[in-house]
This record gives sequence, structure tokens and C-alpha cells, in this order.
Amino acid sequence: MNTNSVMPHHYTIWPKDPAAHVYEVRLTIAEPDAAGQVFAMPAWIPGSYMIRDYAKHVVAARAESDGRDVVLSKLDKSHWQAAPTDRELTLVIEVFAHDESVRGAHLDTTHAFFNGTCVFPAVVGQEDVPCMLDIKAPEKPVGKNWRVATSMNCSGAEQYRFGTYEVNDYAELIDHPVEIGELSIGEFDVCGVPHAIAIRGKTRADMARLCHDLQRICEHHMSFLGAPQDLDRYLFLLNAPGTGYGGLEHRWSSALICGRDNLPARGEEGVSDEYRTFLGLVSHEYFHLWNVKRMKPAAFTPYDLAQESHTDLLWVFEGVTSYYDDLGLVRSGLIDVDSYLELLGQIVTRVIRSGGRRKQSVAESSFDAWTKFYKQDANAANAIISYYAKGALIALSIDLKLRIETDGAVSLDDVMKAAWQRWGESGVGMPEEGFEQLCAEVSGLDLEDFFDATVRGTGELPLEALLKTQGIEYHLRRSAGGKDSGGKSQEEGKLPAVWLGAVLGSRAGKPVFQTVHNSGPAEKAGISPGDELVALDGLRISLAGCEARTRRYHAGDKSDVTVFRGDELMTLRMKWEEAPADTCYLLRDSEEDSATASRREAWLS
Ligand SMILES: [Zn+2]
Repeated sequence: MNTNSVMPHHYTIWPKDPAAHVYEVRLTIAEPDAAGQVFAMPAWIPGSYMIRDYAKHVVAARAESDGRDVVLSKLDKSHWQAAPTDRELTLVIEVFAHDESVRGAHLDTTHAFFNGTCVFPAVVGQEDVPCMLDIKAPEKPVGKNWRVATSMNCSGAEQYRFGTYEVNDYAELIDHPVEIGELSIGEFDVCGVPHAIAIRGKTRADMARLCHDLQRICEHHMSFLGAPQDLDRYLFLLNAPGTGYGGLEHRWSSALICGRDNLPARGEEGVSDEYRTFLGLVSHEYFHLWNVKRMKPAAFTPYDLAQESHTDLLWVFEGVTSYYDDLGLVRSGLIDVDSYLELLGQIVTRVIRSGGRRKQSVAESSFDAWTKFYKQDANAANAIISYYAKGALIALSIDLKLRIETDGAVSLDDVMKAAWQRWGESGVGMPEEGFEQLCAEVSGLDLEDFFDATVRGTGELPLEALLKTQGIEYHLRRSAGGKDSGGKSQEEGKLPAVWLGAVLGSRAGKPVFQTVHNSGPAEKAGISPGDELVALDGLRISLAGCEARTRRYHAGDKSDVTVFRGDELMTLRMKWEEAPADTCYLLRDSEEDSATASRREAWLS
């Protein structure tokens, strides 16, 4: 449909009871299905591949027509049906909202945030009808000084105010998250397109610098793939609490969470590690406005929000995006080459430390994201590979491989531009074999063996050889301990010689085995995930003290490890083993020739 003659669906959302975290949502439709209109709540939100069954937060539902109640029946966990009526029909629901993540809805007396998936039912069979949305203010005294930030088009509402907004269809209605509260708003222009960032939280951040840095990232990506025809505005919604991290992409906006102190203070110079992480997040979500929000796997065209949608290609949409997010920071000059190599070394480290890379391919990881990557258990490190991290390294490998084998004529950049031409504006989904075929088509190379080994298989990536062609030395060393995420060199002599073969965490202040690596010393001794570590060789041990104690052992030494499994105390005999070199750092080759230096320049500048 989508024509002007169709009466739009009219949604109203009202923070009815902020203290109880309850929104009231009203939906009025002019022409309900004569057989009895069905309404559906989404089971998941695009970009976060897990069944969340948002209908479970609906705490009341009723229907009315002409002021009279209409019988409303629940059909299954996510669907309701109203009794037939030939008049205008209104559905009224109340939704409990207490999820502060980027994929949820939240309401209290300090702010309101929602994704449409959490609060707006779809009118089944009429998903293409345009929608109006009234966003109403809460009852006073709540809501004083609140402003409304959303990328939805205003229809009567003034920008950043309560009032009426409009969208073309239901898919758009749920693709514009809304943040309402006391907001700091900064605006900037990217290649003629107005952009803004709306921040919730007492950050005291340097807004001018944020706008400046975000503008550079956005301009870089925009000049890479070009402005999509329908991109006439873009909004970053940022929630900045004490701690937190996350992001979710949308077509005209993204919802972000980062710790407030990760943002630069006024007058602060340089890029801290935390701020670099935030800039990487911004770069990642913005790149998604091309890669996954407009150019999508065929399996998402359109989204089926009632059930899982399987594709082997999440590594393309998340991994390639993860490659270009940090690359965008160095190419736009926000970080230098050494800083970029540190980030790359950290990703390599994450992949090496995942024993699951030997069991699961990125194609399988993509397909099973719903039940494995998004539902990680104690065995995840042994069984799963991240399609983000390994996907980013596959993208890096393809990029460098194409550059080398075509003597600099073709790179992954050319593949992405061609992919955007083919599947970006057209609305045609990328077929499962599409990305691989396009890589071969654009480069003229036979890449089947590479994809067999590294995408469909669990083969290791030839990173050392590929990085050498760019004048970058690939180094591995032992881990310095729990906080060592790699990327930096360390003095060999200061690193622990042995390891437990496990990752320790904390439960009620006590050290607990979170992950037990397959075939490591802890597993061989019979230690289970969840065991509480009580003592090592008869001495009580704390999480903080464990690393120092580990340094007193050598490979081959034996220890009594005392643990609580549930309420049962047990002592297990463990033989220490040499710590693996599972930590990567990358350095520029100090003796490179000028041809190598200019290859790297062409890649990173
Ligand atoms: Zn992503």
C-alpha cells in the first residue's frame, strides 16, 4: 500500500506510570480486518539475534470501538485477535519497561527510552500502512525539562519536543528508538546531511570535541560508500551511565551506551583507551547504516520478527563492520598507526584465546547466533568462535590478500563499493553465496580454497605472512594475567611461566572458575566451571592474589587445588603446564623498504 489514500495507523505512547515503569500504548486503525484484526508483538529486534518475546512485558491488553469494549483473545505468546468490527478499532496495551539496554525499553522518573519492537504491536496484514505516533508527556511533576530525541520525522511536533511524528510503515516505526529526558544535544553536518548526538547522563563531556570527532568518522565513511538516497538525517542516541557498553544500529540512528567517564572532559587532549573504544563503537554503528541496515542478507529481506532468521553471513555484516570500524579511526586520522595496530593485536588475541575456533566456523557461528553466540554458557570459549572477531580478521585477510595478489589494483574497499551498488539501494537481499562470488568477481582471483578453509572451515588465517607484506611484524607472547587483552609488548621475564588453563571470575567476592579450557591443567585435574577456588596447596587464595601466587610455580610442579562444588569441599591434584603464547602484538618493521611503507600507506591512509 503506502499510498496517500490509506488512513494511517495512529499510535500513541504515554509514560503512564513512570514510578511503576509502565507505558500505555494506544493503536487506532481505520479499517480492521473484517474477520477479526490480529495484532503481533515482535519476538526479536533486528541487529540483536536472540528471541526476546517482547510480548511478555505486556501487562494489560484490551480493545474498543466507538467507546464500547471489543472482545480481545490471546492467540499465542505474541498475538492477539479482536472480535470482528466494521468500525474504527483501538487496541490499548500497558507495557512494563525496565530494561536499560540498547535493545529494550525503560521508564522511570528520570527518563524514558524505548525501541518500537518493545512497545508497538503490528497490525497483521497492514504492516505497509503509514503510521502516526503521538509521544505524550508524563503527568507532572515528572518530565520537567524533558526533551524528545528520535530520528523519526516530525509531523506537528517541534524538533526535540513531545507531539506527533510520522513514518512510512511498521518496519520504520520500530527502526527509530526514542530517548526522552534531560538531554545534551550537539549538532553537526556531514556532507550536507544534518547529524546530531543526544546524550543522557551527567557527563560534563566536551560536546564540541565530540561533535568534531564524530563528524570526522562520519565524513570518512560517507565518502567511502556515498550517502544513501534516503539518508536525510542521522542521530546518535547516547546513554552515559556510570558504566556500560553497547550499541544497536538503525537506518537513521543508533542507540549507544558507554560509561560517562569514557567521554573526554572539556580541555582534555589525546585519545584515552576508553575514548578510543567509544569512537570505535560510533564508527561501528555508523558503518552499519550501509552494511546490514540497507545492504542485508536475503534472509532479512524482509525481517520475519516472529521467529529466528538464519543466515551464514553474519560474519560479513558484523565481521566486516568490525574491520572497518577501527580502520575508519586510523584512516580518518583520529588515531595513529601504532594505536590501530594495538587494537588489531587485541582482536587477534581474542580469536587465539577462543579454543572454539577449532570447532566452529564463522559460517556456523553466524547460523547458530540465536542459540550459541547470544546464549553463551560456561563452555562457550571451547565451543564458539565470535563472527565479530574472526569475521574482522577474515575481512583483514581478504583485504590484504587482494591488495597483494592484484599488485595494489583491487582491495576489499572495491568489493564493498560493488556490494553497495548491487545490494545497497536496490533493496535486493545478498544471497548466501553473494559475498564470496563478488570478491572473486571484483578481484578476478580464485578464492574458493580460502573461503573453504577460513569461512566454512576452521582453518587458521595467514595473518603473519599477510601483515609482513605491509611492514608489520606479528608477535605472540604469554599473557600477563586476567587484565591483559593483548596488543602491547611485555618483557618476557615478567610474564608468568605457567597457567591454570582457566579463567577466574568472582562470585560474592570469592574466586570462581568461569571458563575451564579444554585439555588445560584445570580440566585434567577435574575442576568444573562454577567451582569456587578456596585454597592452593593449603593456602587460602583471593582473586587478586591468584596471579602473584601462580608466578611461584614452574611447568611440571604439582599442586593441591581445594574447591567448593556446591556445598561440597574437595581437593584435586593439578599439574602445572607452561602458559601458551596466546597474546598477540603487532609492531612496525623498523627495516622496511619504501615499497612496503607505501603499500601500508595505501592501506591505512
Ligand atoms: Zn554490529
